[in-house]
Amino acid sequence: MTPKKNYRPPDAMAYPRFSGIRTFMRLPNITDLDGVDFAVIGVPFDTGGVFRVGARFGPEGIRSQSLLLRPYNPVLKVSIFDICAGVDYGDLQVTPGYLPESHQQIEQGAAKIYATDATPIFMGGDHSVSLPLLRATAAKYGPVALVHFDSHSDLWNSYFGGKDTHGTPFRRACEEGLIDTARSSQIGLRGSAFDENDLHLSTDMGFQMITGPEMHQIGMAETIRRVRERVGVGPTYLTFDIDFVDPVFAPGTGTPEVGGFTSSQCQQLVWGLTGINFVGFDLVEVVPAYDSEGGVTCMLAANLIYEFISLIALQRRLAENN
Ligand code: MN
Ligand code: MN
Repeated sequence: MTPKKNYRPPDAMAYPRFSGIRTFMRLPNITDLDGVDFAVIGVPFDTGGVFRVGARFGPEGIRSQSLLLRPYNPVLKVSIFDICAGVDYGDLQVTPGYLPESHQQIEQGAAKIYATDATPIFMGGDHSVSLPLLRATAAKYGPVALVHFDSHSDLWNSYFGGKDTHGTPFRRACEEGLIDTARSSQIGLRGSAFDENDLHLSTDMGFQMITGPEMHQIGMAETIRRVRERVGVGPTYLTFDIDFVDPVFAPGTGTPEVGGFTSSQCQQLVWGLTGINFVGFDLVEVVPAYDSEGGVTCMLAANLIYEFISLIALQRRLAENN
């Protein structure tokens, strides 16, 4: 099998990694998705943030830390660009400061990508962007399973009376019927809560909840087993809030919570998700202004997106062989 288009990073032995315009993994910046298998897309919007903002610079930060990624994934044993053509689509249009308008722009922008055969990987932005992204996803596939990594359920009803923030997207998505909660999991929830009701918002809404403390007890393999058992074979959307990770490994985020997971555990979790029918991904809440020297949060985000791309490549290979 050969990809339809030769969209891959330039040869690092011919073109130094640090040269050229910044795109994710040095992929070509192309918006015509004909013949493209995956597209990485920035969603530089943070008006939904309620604490530390600045995720509008997330896509830029992640792109800058993605230059060292290489085409062969030795753990998943896949040579990505022998199977896939991939591009950096650039950023979706938003109107900073104006949430309803921006959410419409994001949904319309995502719909254009879903009109093609490319699997999208969106880089946030704050977590509010997942709502318009899920609207576009469900418009194509119907209600999807959600595999949701986060310290927070993001199922609160409102903040300061506002119903669209980065703490509310999945409540709205459930109300709109965008998520098949019977197939969905929220993974890594932890931290102080407003009250006891907070602790069962997730299960009350019908999700499988695997809290952070519980994961430290049962381990990564059992966590993966539960998620896989739950998710079944239907269309699935993966959303990864970088605050799932411990602040030691990902300080650059809006609402950090201690007691989280290492970069290695994050990789293990994503490696465990091969073969799931993923139709879209997002990685959100990267705030470079709070990152440590050297950009460790952005570096981890870039590497996790690389693992998502590898999952897409494996899916395409499987589809080709069947
Ligand atoms: Mn979140
Ligand atoms: Mn969070």
